[in-house]
Amino acid sequence: MPELPEVEVTRRGIEPGVVGRRIDAVVVRHAGLRRAVPATLGDVLTGTFIETVRRRGKFILVDCRAQDSTSVVGTLLIHLGMTGTLRVMPADTPVRAHDHVDFVLGDRVLRFNDPRRFGLVLWHAEDDGPVLDSATFSKLGVEPFSDAFDVERGGHLLHRLSRGRSVAIKPFLLAGEAVVGVGNIYASETLFRARIHPRVAAGRVSLARYVLLADAIRVVLAAAIAKGGSTLRDFVGADGASGYFQQDYFVYDREGLPCRVCSTTIRSIRQGQRSTFYCPRCQH
Ligand SMILES: [Zn+2]
Repeated sequence: MPELPEVEVTRRGIEPGVVGRRIDAVVVRHAGLRRAVPATLGDVLTGTFIETVRRRGKFILVDCRAQDSTSVVGTLLIHLGMTGTLRVMPADTPVRAHDHVDFVLGDRVLRFNDPRRFGLVLWHAEDDGPVLDSATFSKLGVEPFSDAFDVERGGHLLHRLSRGRSVAIKPFLLAGEAVVGVGNIYASETLFRARIHPRVAAGRVSLARYVLLADAIRVVLAAAIAKGGSTLRDFVGADGASGYFQQDYFVYDREGLPCRVCSTTIRSIRQGQRSTFYCPRCQH
């Protein structure tokens, strides 16, 4: 599943190829994604210009403006789901299986492909209010690279929002209420770096550990973005490069192997139907 780094890599990959371009047409070959692609999408988007390509959590936000205006008319919301990819390619590129939606931009096309169809292509009209205040985003935690999550503030934020919480730290992070972007892989990796046991109640983790964790979250996510994403077989970079680089994980997917720090055997447990990997000696 694409996590925040893959989405950010996708955003950076498509941005230079689409910003400033006119949307000439929208081709919906299959509207049946996790939610139906709006039937009116072609009507509202055709003739608009792409102003900016942003990201919030795991959504890519494409702001569109009218031809003779600098004001945004609305925002296209795209989520990659489990297997979605979004790529810019020449307009005459032959259609493959699972190429569900095309945004035609002159000589090129922004193409959404999604074999498992858990992705989303939605529209938020500016008349409905600021997109980031909408229900989709209003409950999300802060962005890990925002000023609100620099190391000191991030540590304090996690500490404050976790007081009184009996939920284990791993699912607390996965829920994304405090900070977004710490998906299953990065939860295991960042908890290892902060030496926090994944089963400890979030409300019992000390401020000092949360400061370490906030630092680990920024370091690990930045490294993943720098390497072009993570190790997901279904992900293809926005430039069409095949696959991407695998990080040298400390614990993720290393059950039974020796800890890279202390040589203790890495263990795997299930938490909320997700696998968690940890070192029983380094994390306590
Ligand atoms: Zn260890």
